[in-house]
Amino acid sequence: MNGIVWQAKGLVLSYPSRDGGTEAFTHVDFDISAGEFVVLKGPSGSGKSSLLYCLVGLLTPTEGSLQYRNVDVTRWSSKRWAHLRQTEVKFMPQIPAIIPYLTVREALNLPAKDEKSMANTHRLLDRFGMMNHQDYYPHQLSVGGRQRFSFIRAMATPARAVILDEPTASLDDVMTQYVIEELTHAANSGTCVILATHDPRVQSENATILYMEKGQLKRRGLDL
Ligand code: ADP
Ligand code: MG
Repeated sequence: MNGIVWQAKGLVLSYPSRDGGTEAFTHVDFDISAGEFVVLKGPSGSGKSSLLYCLVGLLTPTEGSLQYRNVDVTRWSSKRWAHLRQTEVKFMPQIPAIIPYLTVREALNLPAKDEKSMANTHRLLDRFGMMNHQDYYPHQLSVGGRQRFSFIRAMATPARAVILDEPTASLDDVMTQYVIEELTHAANSGTCVILATHDPRVQSENATILYMEKGQLKRRGLDL
């Protein structure tokens, strides 16, 4: 095992359109390792979300190959991807995918069987100001509350990889800082973290910055 979690080679994604197809991104190549904190930056419409969707199997690349831990997952079935997302690759989409009839507590599987997960979930609820919101249904939360809840759900149990799409868009500066600290800590513990954002507040000393522009990916230095 070489520690590489994701490997993309010549990855292309095009959306069907009336005049033959719109390329969301073209010829993307990268290796992302365990413990790496990747910040994917770039203007709106540059292809960031589309790339994240491919990494979690919600979209299938049009060309190229994608490996996850040395396994070719380019043409995996949606069933295999769903299993991977339930077990080791946590995804936080830009618009929280929340089940309307579960309270925060139910959606977080509380009380958790394992004591460590339970303690960690409580720590996160407390840190993100949601301790008193455990019996709330999603429609009773603010937009920022739903985003915090969605983040807590992604971070509650240890994962091999966490992929997040604009996780700080509806958060204030303090909560944004907490999100960065949590992700930095996860990466330091060996989790592969990939975050797409155009939020200039998202800065982390040890992050790898990938910059996307018009569907092209570039690896840049530390602070872009
Ligand atoms: P970003 O996340 O950087 O804002 P996106 O990945 O959402 O970028 O979009 C990249 C390009 O793909 C844009 O030109 C966008 O209009 C197009 N696109 C995104 N989703 C779809 C879709 N479902 N159907 C067609 N085109 C899409
Ligand atoms: Mg996006």
